[in-house]
Amino acid sequence: MRFERQREDMVRQQIEARGITDPAVLAAMRKVPRHLFVSEALRDQAYGDYPLPIGEQQTISQPYIVAEMTQALALSPEDRVLEIGTGSGYQAAVLAEIAFRVYTIERIYPLYTRARKLFDQLRYHNIVMRYGDGTAGWAEEAPFDAIIVTAGAPRIPRVLVDQLAMGGRLVLPVGDQYTQDLIKVYRDENGLHQVNLGGCRFVKLVGEHGWKP
Ligand code: SAH
Repeated sequence: MRFERQREDMVRQQIEARGITDPAVLAAMRKVPRHLFVSEALRDQAYGDYPLPIGEQQTISQPYIVAEMTQALALSPEDRVLEIGTGSGYQAAVLAEIAFRVYTIERIYPLYTRARKLFDQLRYHNIVMRYGDGTAGWAEEAPFDAIIVTAGAPRIPRVLVDQLAMGGRLVLPVGDQYTQDLIKVYRDENGLHQVNLGGCRFVKLVGEHGWKP
């Protein structure tokens, strides 16, 4: 199987080689068929070390950044996770392999419907979707054990921090529209803490608590 071979090489050369060690993350990336999350024309490039276009001027993140952000969330099997920016659905599928349930929000309708079909086909029954602006989170389902924002925010939306459970982790890119830092915020008995995980580059988070449309 051509894609299985490419997927194994991706995990070894791009992910393990760069220091990702969480066994659940490595197992999920070995399992999710990334080539099905891009258009047929791009399938042969799906396991390459770069982001790819998914239409609507959006991108599926580079495999390594998906692994890095997922590892930073430190997920357990019982966790409920919120993702802002479904895009292709690939990151949500990786999360769904590890966590109990994934809530994901997308603001571009064609991407939302395409991901919805794919989750059905691949039987990801633990992914719940919503169409709309995700910058205010998902209050009805809060609090979350983990929140991941897969688009670049101008600042950390306070409303998302407020939807973190005790012990909860939020990972998001924060910066200007060209480059961002990957920031992790977590809540424990002593309050909120913030760690900078380094530079990254994402498309814009557009919405009420993001960049203005
Ligand atoms: N996690 C995705 C990455 C997609 S790129 C994947 O694995 O493919 C970022 C996505 O965030 C885009 O699809 C974009 O439309 C979406 N997005 C940007 N601002 C948003 C918002 N306010 N609410 C929901 N989705 C948003």
